[in-house]
Amino acid sequence: MKFPQTIRTFCVYCKKHTIHTVEISKKKPRRTLAEGQRRFLRKMKGYGSFPKENPKGREKSTKRIDLRFKCQECGKKHIRGGGFRVKKFNIVKQ
Ligand SMILES: [Zn+2]
Repeated sequence: MKFPQTIRTFCVYCKKHTIHTVEISKKKPRRTLAEGQRRFLRKMKGYGSFPKENPKGREKSTKRIDLRFKCQECGKKHIRGGGFRVKKFNIVKQ
């Protein structure tokens, strides 16, 4: 799928349509102080198994794309919807 690098869309902060630049969000490191992550680290300590078994044979063949739209007027980023799944994805310059 080809996606334009700049689109004109509604900015929730400016409350009007402005030009936005599109970028793919990168994976961020886990918050080690979050309750679930602390529980996971406690479980992984010492001997014993991984808490959840690995899924076998039902992995999804595509990755979910997480797009961020950056407003060129206020410089804030926001999302539209919760992303979507595609096999190929590239941002095209106009
Ligand atoms: Zn804005």
